[in-house]
Amino acid sequence: MSDRSFLPFARPEINGEEINEVVATLQSGWVTTGPRTRAFEERFADYLARGKTGEAEAQPLHCVAVNSATAGLHLALEALGIGPDDEVIVPNYTFTATAEVVRYLGATPVLVDVEEHTFNIDPACVESAITERTRAIMPVHFSGLACDMTTLQALAKRHDLALVEDAAHALPTTWQGRMVGTLGSAACVFSFYANKTMTTGEGGMLVTNDADLAARARTMRLHGISKDVFDRYHSDTPDWYYEVVAPGFKYNMTDIAAALGLHQLKRLPQFHARREDLARRYDEALADLPLRLPAAAPAGDIQARHLYPVRLLPEAGVGRDEFIEAMAARGIGCSVHFIPLHRHPYWQACCGVSEADFPVSEALFQQEVSLPLYTAMSDADLERVVTAVRDVLKRAC
Ligand SMILES: *Cc1c(COP(=O)(O)O)cnc(C)c1O
Repeated sequence: MSDRSFLPFARPEINGEEINEVVATLQSGWVTTGPRTRAFEERFADYLARGKTGEAEAQPLHCVAVNSATAGLHLALEALGIGPDDEVIVPNYTFTATAEVVRYLGATPVLVDVEEHTFNIDPACVESAITERTRAIMPVHFSGLACDMTTLQALAKRHDLALVEDAAHALPTTWQGRMVGTLGSAACVFSFYANKTMTTGEGGMLVTNDADLAARARTMRLHGISKDVFDRYHSDTPDWYYEVVAPGFKYNMTDIAAALGLHQLKRLPQFHARREDLARRYDEALADLPLRLPAAAPAGDIQARHLYPVRLLPEAGVGRDEFIEAMAARGIGCSVHFIPLHRHPYWQACCGVSEADFPVSEALFQQEVSLPLYTAMSDADLERVVTAVRDVLKRAC
């Protein structure tokens, strides 16, 4: 790549194997949910169950492939029976999808602040937000660094709440050595959006070890058509027959997407090693600058490194907007994760919140910049980013 070209903030890495599989899918005549989606679900379950150690866990994992993580989060809450009288606790520092699915069901998202060090939901804030209407907590593993699941699990147990993990960033991530996705939450949902740690273009995976929840999600992802009822009670009925048991959704994954997923999943260990390598290089090269670098995972744990979020400290002498503009002028795309929910007109009106309610989120938002971090980056690309960051900060001081 020539030095003058623009280095985008993110770009998926899709190679010949994925492309050949997509072409084979197109030629097979089966482009919607079919054999490749089923194979992808099976291999995804296998991948998570093998975890860090490569040894399969005993617990059966059900994986339900859907056309986005947003769809998966919606299906999880729907299967839990969340409705208009219910409250669901959601971190304020997240993408709008986490909270919007609560509204799809007419329930109330209760936004809470995050921890400064990790950007993750603050268990103390969760605890003080619990009311008798609370039904679930939705932790978001920001940037792929696991939330304090031990404390959240204890809170959920004590108050009889469901945990629905937004694991859009967290593949692969571990908490105390166990893979996110296998921690025993009611559901855990991964995203395969274009910029995530693996992609199917658009796509997501709902993971649970609750067979009933998985069955409901399978039914609801395709118009509320129940194959189980069909198979159990009508096994001698013709192929064309089906029964609708609920007003379901159109959330199924296509085999075209699953074709990408099958090969991206195979390459995930390699993708992750590269992300770790890039993050380590950033850590070393930026250590002496007036930046707060991303929190490390606890010793022995893995973080997915979906993002590389830095914070501009006051002594940097340059604000977030100015910094991003100066990087763009040097041909480098940066981004901000996230514009917290309290900053959006809809959530302000819906939840009656303002920045005064979320001092940590507000402070993080003012300082946060995400630097490019993706497997299609070369070492030279990373050096370019580092040089630009150093240059921008030197000029500001
Ligand atoms: C990307 C993302 C989502 C949504 O994922 P989709 O697959 O695009 O629906 C949800 N939550 C967070 C935190 C995300 O970053």
